[in-house]
Amino acid sequence: MPAHNRARDVAVVARARRRLYPEGVTTSPRSDLALYLHIPFCTAKCGYCDFNSYAGLEHLVPDYTPALVRELELWAPAAREFQVRSVFFGGGTPSLSSIEDLEAIVRGIRAHYAVAQDSEWTLEANPGELTLEHLRGLRAIGLNRLSIGVQSLHDDELQLLDRVHDAARAIEAVEAAREAGFDNLNLDLIFGLIGQPLERWQQTLRRAVALRPEHLSCYALTVEPGTALYYQVAKGQLEPPDPDVVADQYEWTRSFLAEQGYRHYELSNWALPGRECRHNLVYWHAEPYLGVGAGAHSFFAGQRFANVDAPNRYVELVNASYEERQATGGGQLRQIHGGETPDEALLLSDAMILGLRLMEGVSTQAFEARFGVTPEAVFGAAIERHLATGLLERAGDRLRLTSRGQLLANEVFVDLLPEEAAGVSTTG
Ligand code: SF4
Repeated sequence: MPAHNRARDVAVVARARRRLYPEGVTTSPRSDLALYLHIPFCTAKCGYCDFNSYAGLEHLVPDYTPALVRELELWAPAAREFQVRSVFFGGGTPSLSSIEDLEAIVRGIRAHYAVAQDSEWTLEANPGELTLEHLRGLRAIGLNRLSIGVQSLHDDELQLLDRVHDAARAIEAVEAAREAGFDNLNLDLIFGLIGQPLERWQQTLRRAVALRPEHLSCYALTVEPGTALYYQVAKGQLEPPDPDVVADQYEWTRSFLAEQGYRHYELSNWALPGRECRHNLVYWHAEPYLGVGAGAHSFFAGQRFANVDAPNRYVELVNASYEERQATGGGQLRQIHGGETPDEALLLSDAMILGLRLMEGVSTQAFEARFGVTPEAVFGAAIERHLATGLLERAGDRLRLTSRGQLLANEVFVDLLPEEAAGVSTTG
């Protein structure tokens, strides 16, 4: 967080705590809500990973699960007018959690929140932990979707990524998930690996598609600052991914998955018809979500905020909030450590950038109905520029990325950031 924002953010968080708790928010009855639960524990830290995840903190698990259930309870008054349509256990490695711990969390959600009958319950899982018995336990407590971190189906690439499973184990895990009754599977894959030629990626994707998952997330490897991979590249020990090869891999992925019946619905996501990830669509539609757990982010009651990252600190702060509530019936949500009330310019920019990540793009009518202003009135110069560069196109009432624009999406997005949008007004 930039230092100059710090004072403002502290003030905003204090205001958010007062506004959100304990009186709650007033919304139309049963607005939809997505719930995200962060489980930050991993068996080892992968070299490319910049998520809020930790190896060697298993001793915190017995305190972490009750704290997470308490945080759910703390938020319940503010969320009472909402209906939960999706629940997503992310991490970290949620599949490391015992069935008993996950069941306690599921019970906490069902006890304190209105949950839609057809809700989607996803758990992120690493192949190494997915035994048939564990998978049957996950089904028994109500999880109905798995997102399996396969990443590659070549053992040497998995080693390069520091993953603890091999390709055979990944395939066994998918087969065991089917046997346990999961009929909605996502496989996470990474392309653009260092030194990975097109053919190697093609082999991985062909083998993954042969397993007929309902959904595929294919992300290009990014070298994130602060990761072990970043320092190896910075020291010249590893070459960064070749952007031309990455572009070839992405283009081939689009055409191959289209042939195989998968609909490309978001820049990095493909699904069989009707199997798009309902939870992630909430993010791309810039709709409300509540994140619970260490480092979890939220966009709720018109505010963005995040919990403290460190799991031990998170447990202490949730417990302090909970005890205060028990004693006084009120108090603060102390685990929140950063946030902002997005101004109109930021809300519009987010809605535009996130919406353009979707292949259907942004409906100008829906945008105007939601914000009281057309995209053209806010981003007119940027839209005209990228219609001319061929990165954007119109399709009826929609603005969307072109095929080339999908490869160069960041060039469009940077021009849609608030400081680039001249004359923002939602009243005109
Ligand atoms: S298993 Fe996933 S969350 Fe954990 S360190 Fe590896 S990439 Fe990060």
